[in-house]
Amino acid sequence: MRWWLSRPDLGRYPVQPAGTGDVTAWFLGTSSVLLSDGHTAVLTDGFVTRPGLARVAFGRIAPDPRVVGAAFEQLGRPPIGAVVCAHSHYDHALDAPVWASLTGADLVGSESTANIGRGLGVPERRLRVVGDGDVLGCGRFELAFVESRHSPGDRYPGEVGAALVPPRRSREWRTGVVYAVFVSHPSGTVLVHASAGFRPGALHGRRADVVYLGVGTLGRQPARYVEEYWAEVVGVTGARRVVPVHWDDFFVSLDRPLRPLPRPADDLDVTMRRLSVLGARDGVEVVLPVAWQPSDPFAHPDQV
Ligand SMILES: [Zn+2]
Repeated sequence: MRWWLSRPDLGRYPVQPAGTGDVTAWFLGTSSVLLSDGHTAVLTDGFVTRPGLARVAFGRIAPDPRVVGAAFEQLGRPPIGAVVCAHSHYDHALDAPVWASLTGADLVGSESTANIGRGLGVPERRLRVVGDGDVLGCGRFELAFVESRHSPGDRYPGEVGAALVPPRRSREWRTGVVYAVFVSHPSGTVLVHASAGFRPGALHGRRADVVYLGVGTLGRQPARYVEEYWAEVVGVTGARRVVPVHWDDFFVSLDRPLRPLPRPADDLDVTMRRLSVLGARDGVEVVLPVAWQPSDPFAHPDQV
């Protein structure tokens, strides 16, 4: 295959080691991350249906409750208290209401996310609309929301203005509000930063130990942009570990190994090269997540 149609080789990058801790993390592809302390769990996005490219481009899409149910079983039926949508595009919010219905969890996000929940019958009492600076408790977790920006080139900007009943065209899952989500626990703080955009200064004064850093389309941005993004999200929070997320080809179902997007869409090699340089400069570990594998997000690098 020609280089420009090829995909980066994941084998050349360090990965997050398997393990468990006071908090254990599971990566489910895109920016879907489950964090559990054994008593309570928090899920970001939970996008697992992953409809194929042709359906997304030309057809109508809907969540597949069987796929969500299988993922829930594979994770050992975690005690999910909150499902948080980082924004409302379908690759974040398609399945979130199904997780909420399956587990009794609250569905947390923008008014657009609430409307996606309404379309699938999530009761009003379980819809939590949050704004910039809001904080929610969930077991021993505390969730803090900071309004952020989508990565450059948002294809479906705007709001979901009314209950969205699938199947619908993929473009109807509009952005809503984009959040940086700080998930704090007595053992540490994870920042899930799903989209590679930023609002300058928005995260100043906030701390995180680990950033699950959205890198979708980052390989298409100039080096200067990547440096600014790093400074605004990793630098200001003082994180010592960066776990790049949202680099996988999400038109491929999750029962197959994750693979990066092909080069016309993005270039994970470019992204990883730049992040590795910034990580080496600042003493920050950069490790790719492994799908379905438990890991300790706060493990000291010497322990792993
Ligand atoms: Zn998006």
